[in-house]
Amino acid sequence: MKETILVVDDEEHARNAVARILKSNGYIVHSVAGGQEALDFVSREPIDLLLTDFRMPGMDGLTTVRAVRRINPQVVAIIMTANNSIDLAVQSLNLGVHGFVIKPFTVHELLTTINQTLERQQLIRENTKMKALVEVFAATEALIVAKADSQDLPKVTVELVLRETKSNEAVLFLLEEFVPNSTTLKLVAVADSSEEGNSASYSEPDLFIQNNATTFQLFKDIAYYALEIKNKVFVIDDEIVTLGDDRMIPAQKQNCALAVPMLVQGRTIGVLCTRRINSESTYSEVTLQTTDILAGQAAIAIENARLVTRLARIEAQREADLLRSEFVATVSHELRTPLTSIKGYTTTLLRNDVAWDGKVGHEYLGIISEECDKLMELIDNILEVARFEAGAMRIYPEPVQVKAILERAVYETQSRNPVVQFTFEVPDSEDLPFVMANPKRINQVLHNLINNAIKYSPSPAQITLSVQKDYPNSKGGVSMLLIGVTDKGIGLSDVNLEKIFERFYRVDIGATRRTEGTGLGLAICRGIIEAHQGQIWVESPGLNKGSVFYFTLPTITLSDQVIFE
Ligand code: ADP
Repeated sequence: MKETILVVDDEEHARNAVARILKSNGYIVHSVAGGQEALDFVSREPIDLLLTDFRMPGMDGLTTVRAVRRINPQVVAIIMTANNSIDLAVQSLNLGVHGFVIKPFTVHELLTTINQTLERQQLIRENTKMKALVEVFAATEALIVAKADSQDLPKVTVELVLRETKSNEAVLFLLEEFVPNSTTLKLVAVADSSEEGNSASYSEPDLFIQNNATTFQLFKDIAYYALEIKNKVFVIDDEIVTLGDDRMIPAQKQNCALAVPMLVQGRTIGVLCTRRINSESTYSEVTLQTTDILAGQAAIAIENARLVTRLARIEAQREADLLRSEFVATVSHELRTPLTSIKGYTTTLLRNDVAWDGKVGHEYLGIISEECDKLMELIDNILEVARFEAGAMRIYPEPVQVKAILERAVYETQSRNPVVQFTFEVPDSEDLPFVMANPKRINQVLHNLINNAIKYSPSPAQITLSVQKDYPNSKGGVSMLLIGVTDKGIGLSDVNLEKIFERFYRVDIGATRRTEGTGLGLAICRGIIEAHQGQIWVESPGLNKGSVFYFTLPTITLSDQVIFE
C-alpha cells in the first residue's frame, strides 16, 4: 500500500492539480487549504507525508510543518517553494522539513522528490530503530545473567523496561505458575522513576497496590485485556488505540500506557505494562518494539528459571525416593538377617524329635538373644533418626569431663573386642575445661565412631583418640573442645566426605558393602552433636589412607565451672 499524503495549498487550482497527479500515481491523497485545516486533519487521521506550500496566508508552510510534527512526529514534510525563497527553504531543512520542490515543477520532479524523501526518511528511521534495538538487545544481557533460580528476574525486567522505554512506571504481572490454564494475573514487580530524577526505584507490589489504587487498576485492566486478545494493548489518554496496520502512532496528548503479553512457545505466562505520564515525547515505534523484545526475553528467562527450579526439585525428589527405596531394601535385609537366624534357632529348639541337652539349648538361646538385641538396636536407630527429623531431640546437657567419657568408651570397646589398639592423645583432666554435654549421648557418638573405625579398618584396628582445647566456634570465639577419632582404615574419597553424614548413605564400594550397616550411625552422630551446638566432620587423605572424624563440644567458662566444683 502506498503512503497517505496531505496536500496543503491555499491556491485551489494548484492544490487540486498536485492532488490529482499524486492520486494517479497510487498515493492516498487528502487536500486542505491552510495550516489550521491541516492541523485539524492530522489530529483526526494518520498521514505519512505532508506536502505544503511555503507562502500561505495565516499559518505559513514552515509553521504548519512544525505544528503537525508536534502532533505526529513521524510525519515526513516536504515544502513547495517559489524560486525566490530557496534560501528560506534550505534553512527550513534544519527546522523539521525533510525536502522541498521548487515551483514551477514538473510531474517527474515532484514524484522524484517525494520518493527520495520518503526513502531517505525510511532509511533514517530504520537506522535509528536498529541502533536502539541493538542497545536493547545488549541490555537484555541482564536478564540472561540474572541467577536462574533467583526471584530477581521480575525485578530486573521492570527496571530494565523502565530504563529502556523511559517510562514512569513499569509493572510485571505473572499468571499463577502451578495452576493449569490459570487466568489470574498476580502483580510481582513494580519499578517507578522517582519524581526527583530518572533513577528507577523498586516498589514492593503490595505497597504499590495500596498506595496507587487507580494506577494499579489501569494496569490491571489493560493487562487482562492484553491477556484476552493475546496482543499488545496501547492506551493514549484513557483510550485504547488499535495499532492494526497503521504505520504511525497517533498523536499523543499527555499519558500513554502499554501492555504486552509475555509469550513462551505461544503460551502466555504474564503481561508487562508500562506507562508514561505528562510527557512531551511519544511512545514511538521503537518503544513498542523495545517493550516487545524485553517482554519476550523476560518471558524466556523466567520460564527457564522456573524449569531449572522444577528440575532441581524433581532431581531432589528422585534422590529422596532412591534413598528411601534403598533404605527400605537395606532395612528389610537387616531385619531379615537376625529374624531368619532367630526363626532358625527357635524352629530347631522346638523340634519334638530331638532332645537338646541344656548346654546346646542355652547356646542357641544366647544367639537368639543377641539377634534380638541387633533388631532392637536397628529399630532404635530408625526411631532416633525420625526424632531428629521431627526436631524432637532433647539432650539435657550437664557439665562433664570428656576424658572420663573417652576412657569409658575405650574400656567398653576393649572388653568386647580386645584386639583393637588404642592410642590416647588426651591432656590431663585438670588441663581440660568442662563441656556442656549429655554423657550418654557423647558415649553413643564415640561408640558409633569407634565401631566404624573398626568396621572400616583391617584387623587389628588402630585407633587414636585425641582432644584439643580452645578450638574456634562458628562465631570466631575459642570456646570449643575438639575431639578426634583417627583410624588407619579404608579412608574416604572427597566426594563422600559430606554425604556419609546423610541418613541412609553408605559408600558404594566393596569394603562398605561387605560390612553390615544401615547408613544411620553418622546421621545420628550429627544429630546429637548439632543438638549440643557442636559440629561434626571427617577428614581423609584419600582411599586406603585412613580417616579422622572430628566433633566439637561447647566448653563452659571458668566462672561457670566454679559453680560445679
Ligand atoms: P553404616 O556404618 O551403618 O553404613 P554410618 O552412618 O555409620 O553407617 O556410616 C556411613 C558410611 O560412611 C559407611 O557406610 C561408610 O561407607 C562410611 N564410613 C563411616 N565411617 C568410616 C570410616 N571410619 N572409614 C571409612 N568409611 C567410613
